Amino acid sequence: MIRLKKPNVVILGAGYGGLMTTVRLQKMVGVNEANITLVNKNDYHYESTWLHEASAGTLHHDRVRYPIADVIDRSKVNFVKDTVVKVVPEENRVILENGELTYDYLVVALGFESETFGIKGLKEYAFSIANVNAARQIREHIEYQFATYNTEEEKRDERLTIVVGGAGFTGIEFLGELVNRVPELCREYDVDPHKVRIICVEAAPTALPGFDPELVEYAVNLLERKGVEFKIGTAIKECTPEGIIVAKGDEVEEIKAGTVVWAAGVRGSHVIDESGFEAMRGRVKVDPFLRAPGYENVFIVGDCSLIINEETNRPYPPTAQIAMQQGEVCAKNLAVLIRQQGELQPFKPDIKGTVCSLGHDDAIGVVFGKKVWGSKASFMKKMVDNRALYLIGGPSLVMKKGKFNFL
Ligand SMILES: Cc1cc2nc3c(=O)[nH]c(=O)nc-3n(C[C@H](O)[C@H](O)[C@H](O)COP(=O)(O)OP(=O)(O)OC[C@H]3O[C@@H](n4cnc5c(N)ncnc54)[C@H](O)[C@@H]3O)c2cc1C
Repeated sequence: MIRLKKPNVVILGAGYGGLMTTVRLQKMVGVNEANITLVNKNDYHYESTWLHEASAGTLHHDRVRYPIADVIDRSKVNFVKDTVVKVVPEENRVILENGELTYDYLVVALGFESETFGIKGLKEYAFSIANVNAARQIREHIEYQFATYNTEEEKRDERLTIVVGGAGFTGIEFLGELVNRVPELCREYDVDPHKVRIICVEAAPTALPGFDPELVEYAVNLLERKGVEFKIGTAIKECTPEGIIVAKGDEVEEIKAGTVVWAAGVRGSHVIDESGFEAMRGRVKVDPFLRAPGYENVFIVGDCSLIINEETNRPYPPTAQIAMQQGEVCAKNLAVLIRQQGELQPFKPDIKGTVCSLGHDDAIGVVFGKKVWGSKASFMKKMVDNRALYLIGGPSLVMKKGKFNFL
């Protein structure tokens, strides 16, 4: 069959999944084969996996982002800076804040949002490490608490209490940065380090549920040595302007804190729900080719998608690793549909490992089935970070934004 017009491919979101789809697709198809449009609310991409560093203030927020224009081929990809409001899949339409687009093929890659599970006050009074703006605000807020402390006649020690909700991956990585940042803040604002409290509250019976217990012990010991107080098996019941209320069994406690950061839950984009896709917390269970059920021309990748690990019969946790691998397969499948040639490729995640940083100089992880910790794991973490840059922007992006502080 010969096509009468070039198909419109619209990609929503320039995170790991959307940008990977775009850069791979632009290499596979010629200018005359398809109109490719990429929509993102900012004209930059940010490394979501580095946001804990920007939030703690150990890495400047400009280091975690780069212009989308640097990695797309503008002769093939039309970039639209706008916010997606909703998709109307029955009509092949996307509604943006400032206009509308129609598509033949759509990729939804709008990423994650914070999920507060209805816990009272979290939305209003807690921060969440969700994007560059949020990270910048958390860093500024913590610094403001330190800067204000000594200006007040009546000292309010709770200004110097930072609560982190959740000892999962994000919570632990953020704590790893905080324990390095706090001594710097103490020096800068003449604050007695003994006045500072960093408290991590986790409802599950262990930190980093699902991680190797020996590595979890390593991480918890290291963070405790550097001043973190863990409250494990303890649930946040409410967040208030003054702090949090927690409960362990029947015991209820109020912890006054100047900063509360919620790092215990993410969901897919609200746009998924607005658009009427069948979903759980903004995540659509996609078919083997990454398509939304009922819509053969709509692909969903990254944190808005849900795929089941057949070995455990549970969903894979959403990760950048999976989002990027999905982007590669999605681009191949789009090329097949654009050319009407070849067969769609099913998606199979290839999990190479997981490394959780504990500050810039320490980490724990399992890589190719082997446990690693300490400086070796930290080196690997930086290699993983650099690899993500390399896969999207090649060696020049690694040179511009890469992490080379290996010692
Ligand atoms: C602190 C932290 C550390 C992490 N560490 C790791 C790690 O070590 N390894 C790992 O594999 N994963 C890690 N993750 C998870 C990983 O970041 C996510 O799984 C990954 O970012 C998902 O990629 P994505 O492409 O789905 O979405 P995202 O990377 O979230 O990108 C979504 C894009 O869509 C844009 N967007 C959103 N809504 C709209 C809208 N309505 N209109 C227009 N544009 C919009 C956003 O601006 C963004 O550019 C971490 C996450 C966090 C927060």
